[in-house]
Amino acid sequence: MSQAPYQPLARRWRPNTFASVVGQHVPLSILKNALEAQKVPHALLFHGLHGTGKTTLARITSKALNCLSPTSPHEPCNNCESCSLIDGDAHPDVREVDAASRTGVDDTREMLESLPYQPVLSAYKVYIIDEVHMLSKSAFNALLKSLEEPPSHVKFIFATTELYKVPATTLSRCLILDLAPITRQKLEEHLGSIAKTEKVDIDQDALSLLSEHTNGSARDAVMAFEKVMHFSGKKKITAEIVQNAMGVISLKSAYVLLEFVLSGSSDDTRSHVASFYKKGITPQTIISSLMNALYLLICALKSPDEYAHMQTMVDECVKGKKDKVTLPFLLFVWQIMLRIKEEVDFSANAQNALDIGLLRFDDAILLQEAVAAPALPSTEEKATAVLKAIKKAFPDTEIIMKK
Ligand SMILES: [Zn+2]
Repeated sequence: MSQAPYQPLARRWRPNTFASVVGQHVPLSILKNALEAQKVPHALLFHGLHGTGKTTLARITSKALNCLSPTSPHEPCNNCESCSLIDGDAHPDVREVDAASRTGVDDTREMLESLPYQPVLSAYKVYIIDEVHMLSKSAFNALLKSLEEPPSHVKFIFATTELYKVPATTLSRCLILDLAPITRQKLEEHLGSIAKTEKVDIDQDALSLLSEHTNGSARDAVMAFEKVMHFSGKKKITAEIVQNAMGVISLKSAYVLLEFVLSGSSDDTRSHVASFYKKGITPQTIISSLMNALYLLICALKSPDEYAHMQTMVDECVKGKKDKVTLPFLLFVWQIMLRIKEEVDFSANAQNALDIGLLRFDDAILLQEAVAAPALPSTEEKATAVLKAIKKAFPDTEIIMKK
């Protein structure tokens, strides 16, 4: 017997009901209530970053509008003829157009000519236009009249990543639904439940690292999960495996590096960075991960209760130097990291820029020592040492003293 063809996880886990959509509480509530009240506006516009679920929601909405045996006042059954035809891109009343490839006025006119005709199979003719901002000016003008006075059996569903490129005349005739990037916690829970169902052994650190590096997109998160799953073979997926498969740095590893930086251990810092290079991790990722670790360290020191889950990592990082790791010192280190990031981002050779940039951390240590030095008892001497350290780290900065 032949095996069923393999379906990628992202496809298999693509939501097909509102209940299975991850996050998006506000737009979901609006849609569900409008469907239940049978008051869905004639034009909806989903706006959000790539991978936040715009076209998925457009499809579920078109199924919910046309489902022949809905399972609730707002959920499609995913079984009836209408739902199956929409899933197979073959529904005679539902048209999905990608404006990126059909931008012209002729394409829009051809679509608009079919508007007056009654739907063949279902209650509504639904026109889904993805990347609607790509339509030409004349195509938007042709569309406008239909948006002003649409036949009652017509619904438009638009999706865009770039709302500001959609003319105001179109926007003012749509119900705009903003899709926010999905929080790390929600993505972590989502991947956790996929792992459980798919019987994939993965630890919590690995889930958290995956969620951290998928830009708030459920689809990207599932695709990254699948990549790591194939990379690990049958082994348990750990943060180390995610790190190697994705070229990212776990928070734990970033903290080890941060601890070297804060201790002024230049050699350890350099060799740790070199070990990241060997794993194919880019200088951009290294400096961003370091900044993220410092950001969280500052947050944890400022609001220990809120960041209680990070306490062990924070304690480890500031161990033995609690008096020296003051907020002004950390803010100074942050400024240095910002400067290094700029240099890495704009340099023709990012690795060289990072290697040289790392030397700047010695200036931070100079400042730390100047502030904490018991050997400099007078305020004036301390101030001079502090200024010297700042001047060394940022030579092009003018320091203005206030009397
Ligand atoms: Zn159905």
